[in-house]
Amino acid sequence: MAASEVGRLEIDGRQMQYRIVRSAKRQKTMAIQIRRRVVLVRVPAITSTRRITRFVESRRDWIADKLAEVEAAQGARHTYSDGEIHDYLGRRYPLKVVAVSSEAGRVKLDRGKFLVEAPLLVTIERQKRFIQENLRNWYYARAQVKIAQVVRQVAGRVGLEPKKIAIKDLKRSWGICRSNGNISFCWRLVLAPPDLIEYIVLHEICHLEQLNHSPAFYRLVERYQPDYKERAARFARWVAGLALDEPN
Ligand SMILES: [Zn+2]
Repeated sequence: MAASEVGRLEIDGRQMQYRIVRSAKRQKTMAIQIRRRVVLVRVPAITSTRRITRFVESRRDWIADKLAEVEAAQGARHTYSDGEIHDYLGRRYPLKVVAVSSEAGRVKLDRGKFLVEAPLLVTIERQKRFIQENLRNWYYARAQVKIAQVVRQVAGRVGLEPKKIAIKDLKRSWGICRSNGNISFCWRLVLAPPDLIEYIVLHEICHLEQLNHSPAFYRLVERYQPDYKERAARFARWVAGLALDEPN
């Protein structure tokens, strides 16, 4: 009988889970499969957890690339049409497309809706791209402000100051801390609930002192965020939910 266990892998501050499937058949080697957003690790029936962990970690980059591809494909499924749900700071807002003559592409949150102005005289395809671009610019701008606020708070509390922070279109992670003290965050982080943004920010700030995932690093994280494990689990669920909410 094939049993199934769960393992964890961190990809630049992003917790993900994988399912270990122990084969009842005479499988000799380990293999990783990605089905939608689920990572399956097929292994011979008798394989130690340590060997599986080492194997999965050696394939970290490959897994990250594959997951990014799946996400990109799902992101492309947004229709940017009236009523479609888009997230901001953990809340869900329906899109309301307002036809206007200007090409300014204004976006604003108004009474629980994302109002997006789009010019009339374009094809559906061009209008969709227009809305997508302007909505994304809006998220970028909000991310610059919101994430900088959280960084200031967290950095002040921990007493570690990044040299520079940047908001980028990161494909494979939510945050990256470099040894020169620069930290980058993915603009999409601004879609998450504030306490989960804080979870990612604290993780990266702690890397300013410990640029590794050693026990010392996690002790530092825990000192400033005793519930970080609970947040990590919630963050993983939030990320999974992002895709599930995507319309066809
Ligand atoms: Zn990390």
